Amino acid sequence: MSPIRGIGGKFKPPEIEYRLEDGPLDSRCMICTSHKPNSEGYPVVVRDRKQPHMHRYLYQLMYGEIFADTDIHHLRKNRACINVEHLCAKGHGFHSQDHKSGVARLDMRGSKHPMSKLTELQARAILADTEHTHRCLANKYGVSQPAISDIKSGKNWGFLSGGK
Ligand SMILES: [Zn+2]
Ligand SMILES: [Zn+2]
Repeated sequence: MSPIRGIGGKFKPPEIEYRLEDGPLDSRCMICTSHKPNSEGYPVVVRDRKQPHMHRYLYQLMYGEIFADTDIHHLRKNRACINVEHLCAKGHGFHSQDHKSGVARLDMRGSKHPMSKLTELQARAILADTEHTHRCLANKYGVSQPAISDIKSGKNWGFLSGGK
């Protein structure tokens, strides 16, 4: 899926309404009540004659452009939820693999396992990114700052940088 265009200067925030729903994660689900879901159950927002999924739209507003081969995974599998804290970027291949193997279901236990949220592709991207702060990267990938530091120092995913 290509990035959503027209956010920059033309951006006008959609009027979004939602109700809160309790769950196992640190924050509550925000169930969208103002926008109709499409046939797949994802609320959509109409922009420039396109109908991007609301969660992808909000994710891009928060964290910037989503790469073409990247999926936005719902940690609680709730497609109507638009809480960006419950979203996590995964490479398309890894994403479908996670769902097939059942790994994706583990995310529903909560956010206590930050490393399990990252794919190898994302860990590589974090390692290669020398432009952004750890804080910014932590926000973008939905993990803690120490998790970013561990990748950078080679403590986690050390094999990517030749192992330590
Ligand atoms: Zn949620
Ligand atoms: Zn998913």
